[in-house]
Amino acid sequence: MKKKTVEVKRGKTVPKGKPARKPAPAARAQALPEALRNQRRLEAGGRFRFGCHPELSCFTNCCADVNILLTPMDVLSLSRRLGLTTGEFIARHTLTPVTKDLHLPVLMLRMGEEPQKRCLFAGDAGCDVYQDRPWSCRMYPVGMGLPPARAGEEPQPVYFLFEDDFCKGRTEPKEWTVDQWRTDQGVAAREEMEAGYRGIVSHPWFIGGRQLDPKRMEIFHTACYDLDKFRDFVFGSTFLSRFELEDSLVATLRDDDMALLRFAFRWLRFALFAEPTMKVREGAP
Ligand code: SF4
Ligand code: SF4
Repeated sequence: MKKKTVEVKRGKTVPKGKPARKPAPAARAQALPEALRNQRRLEAGGRFRFGCHPELSCFTNCCADVNILLTPMDVLSLSRRLGLTTGEFIARHTLTPVTKDLHLPVLMLRMGEEPQKRCLFAGDAGCDVYQDRPWSCRMYPVGMGLPPARAGEEPQPVYFLFEDDFCKGRTEPKEWTVDQWRTDQGVAAREEMEAGYRGIVSHPWFIGGRQLDPKRMEIFHTACYDLDKFRDFVFGSTFLSRFELEDSLVATLRDDDMALLRFAFRWLRFALFAEPTMKVREGAP
């Protein structure tokens, strides 16, 4: 059995991961997802009360039958933690829902097959992958929405508070702002990669309901989620003979996952939206 993860925060024994009852809205372009429409909006500086620890009667109950959308950073972190390639992780631990209001492929964390549908990472003492738990699990009880894309503007997230009856954490005394919560949960530290992903899924190219063709959907899926396959594509195809890249960058991409994911977002801006983020070699095939 895996080591149970119990975190020590500010001298107190505590939290397991915070599960997300509602999925993160990363792949929706046009409006706030339905799950967020009736939730309380958290304005900048707005406060909420929350705490999650093993003494609560609800502890670990919520890590079951829950929709958790995975970001590229989630897939990468969990794959590496589990010693799997990204492709193996996707095959074993994710589902790809198909619904008409999603304009890009998304991955959801696969729950257990038994009737309770417990998360496969939920242990008696908390989340077994706490250090690498998904973005949605870190953010709960805060939800995030992205307003419709506008040309020339970076999408600014808006935040909401889930006030679920089953969660006793909201009766705890400690107060937080969204920024404090994001920092405490390690979300702020991953912001560069999360923002890179948001920049793709909320790109102004999608304004008006434009859809990617199947080939570009596949490119998006590989570059965002299946980073090991993307690395094979960069180094095992004609890619490097088609584009001008600095030697130092190429060397980094071979074994630096963060650099490769950052590069994947740059490549996607070129391949999906024809932004001039890549330079084609003269006479390239
Ligand atoms: S990954 Fe961890 S925190 Fe998230 S639902 Fe599973 S057990 Fe809970
Ligand atoms: S229901 Fe709320 S307080 Fe209880 S374990 Fe889940 S996140 Fe923590």
